[in-house]
Formats: sequence, C-alpha cells, structure tokens
Amino acid sequence: MAHRIWNFNAGPATLPLPVLEKIKADLPNYNNTGMAFMELSHRSKPYDEVHVAAKSLARELWNIPESHHILFLQGGASTQFAMLPMNLLREGQKADYINTGTWSKKAIKEAKLFGEVNIAASAEDEKFTYVPTQAELKLSGDAEYVHMTTNNTIAGTQFHYTPETGKVPLIADMSSDIMSRPLDISKFGMIYAGAQKNLGPSGVTMVIIKDELVAKCKENNPTMLKYATHVDKDSLFNTIPTYSIYILKLVLEHMKAIGGVTAIEKENLAKGETLYGAFDTMSDFYRCPVREDSRSLMNVVFRLPNEDLEKQFIAEAAEAGLGGLKGHRSVGGIRASTYNAMPLEGVKALTEFMKGFAAKNG
Ligand code: PMP
Repeated sequence: MAHRIWNFNAGPATLPLPVLEKIKADLPNYNNTGMAFMELSHRSKPYDEVHVAAKSLARELWNIPESHHILFLQGGASTQFAMLPMNLLREGQKADYINTGTWSKKAIKEAKLFGEVNIAASAEDEKFTYVPTQAELKLSGDAEYVHMTTNNTIAGTQFHYTPETGKVPLIADMSSDIMSRPLDISKFGMIYAGAQKNLGPSGVTMVIIKDELVAKCKENNPTMLKYATHVDKDSLFNTIPTYSIYILKLVLEHMKAIGGVTAIEKENLAKGETLYGAFDTMSDFYRCPVREDSRSLMNVVFRLPNEDLEKQFIAEAAEAGLGGLKGHRSVGGIRASTYNAMPLEGVKALTEFMKGFAAKNG
C-alpha cells in the first residue's frame, strides 16, 4: 500500500495525520534530548511535562471537574471490568449493570466474582439493537454503583442520554466514545476507556474517578489494582506506558487546535447524518439493524441483501481505499467505525462507494 487509506477499523483506529507527522518529526531526537521519546525515563523532566500536559489538556477539553482524578493505567478497559468491582463491591453488596452488549456482559461477568449483580435492563431480547430508556431501567436504589457502556462498539448502539441514578454513582465504560461529545462529567462517579479508539494508540487506559469513590475503595487489594495507589502516585507507581501517553497528548493538542470537543461533536453529527442518511436513500439495498434513537455515531453497522454481497462489498471497498469495514466476527455484516479522527471526507468517500456498489449490484 503506497498511500494511506480511509481506515474504518474499530480499534486500534485511525489517528489524525498531523499527529502522525509530529511523531515522525520527533524521531529520533525528541526536543534535543538526544533520545527518542520512548527512550526517556518516566522519571525525567521531559516525560513529566508531557504527563502534566496530557492531564491538563484532557481536563480543559472535556471540562473535567477538580473533584475527579485523571489516571493513566494499563491492562485496557478489560482490566477495569474487574478492578472496578474489586475496589467498590464487597461481598454481600450489590451493583446495577445495564446490559447493552458483548462488552457489558464481560463487565458483568467480572463483577459477579466480587458481589451481587442486578441487571437493571438488558437489550439482549432484541439482539442489542437498542439501548434502554430511562423508564426501562430497574435500578435497585441501594446499589454501590450503576454501570453502563455508553457506546456499544459491536452492536453499533449508543446512549444519547445520561441515566439519572440519584445518589448512586454512575460508572461508564466509554471505550468507544470518550471525548466524542461534551458531557456533564460531574454526573459520573467514574469513566474509563482504552485510548485506542478516540484518544491515541493502545497501551493506555484513561480512568476519570471521583475523589469520593477513591475514598470508599477496599483497602486489602493488591497494590497495582487499587485506585488509591494510582491517585497517590499520579499514575507513576510503576513504569507508565510513556510512548502511548505522549501520543495521547498529541491527539489532545490536535483536538484543541481544531476547536475542541464541541467542534468534534459537530463533525461527528455530520458524519452520522451522511452515513445514516445513505441508508434512507438506498433502503432497498442497505439496512441498518439499529433502532433509530439508539444509533451510534462511532460505530455504524449495516447489512446488505446477503452475506456474499457483504464479502464482495468489503473486498471491493478495500480495493477502493476504504479499509476495516468487516463487522465484528460475532455478528458479521459491515461496520464503519467513525471515531473522532475519521474526517467527514472519509465518510463521504464511503457513501459514494456505497452508491456505486448498490447501482452495480442492486
Ligand atoms: N469496552 C468497549 C466498549 C470496547 O469497545 C472494548 C474494546 N473494543 C473494550 C471494552 C475492551 O477494551 P480493551 O481491549 O482496551 O481491554
């Protein structure tokens, strides 16, 4: 491949080109340190500057209140599935989980190792093609927390409201839609996300946790698996993934330069309109299984009249420079991941291709 393609992969995913160019320019001698960034000590001044800048940029861009700590951890969102209940759910206590797909189910499985799980709502009855409304949530009221997956990467659904949970802390896996839109962060007890979709490369997990919750965590857990350890040591208890955080900081700088999260949301909405609009105008050929009020602006899933045509679509799209369109192996079909770094231009290229393909094969 001699040139860059429109990369619709679900994660790791496309990164802004100016960020990639900056990474290249910074090699092999970062800021006249005589070393590449990944060769610097995590205890060095140049690293510390990046660490501090990454946190303050995230705080500024997403309006994260001072009541919440920003942590950079390892082990992916998958480790958070276990670390969360390990810290906040004691035996005999209960947590509410909203089941909106594969990733919610994995979180539920881990929580059951530590305490009781109440399924506050489940969309499994309709193959996860919608997210439950507030009225459909059966919250227990006395749970330690309520857990949700804001965007369902495989099913292609997304919450377009923040559930009201009263005094019970709301905890959200935002792996696939973090910083894709402005949100009132004060409504969340904790937010977590692997960086590899909207924020950078894989290798770092951002955790935003309210101080009050850190204080409530269980004491007798392994040091590395306690939120308090990482709060006390500013995520530098052990060797942090320095290079991933450096790239995350470049992504945040880029986000700021293009107008911040409000501008990004605007672009995401335009991308959604373009792609979902294409289904409406070609509804005899393309079908989106997701209920209209639950459609994701990050992962757009759709079907063609049959699986052979889907295979052909993916192959011909790849030849046309549109990659990563194969649906998740558990559901099949087509999935276009349109994270923050996918420009509207890329989505337009996809809809143009879709028109041509439907005209030829419809
Ligand atoms: N939650 C969601 C919503 C995801 O999309 C993913 C990864 N695709 C995960 C959790 C797991 O993340 P990780 O691979 O970082 O553990």
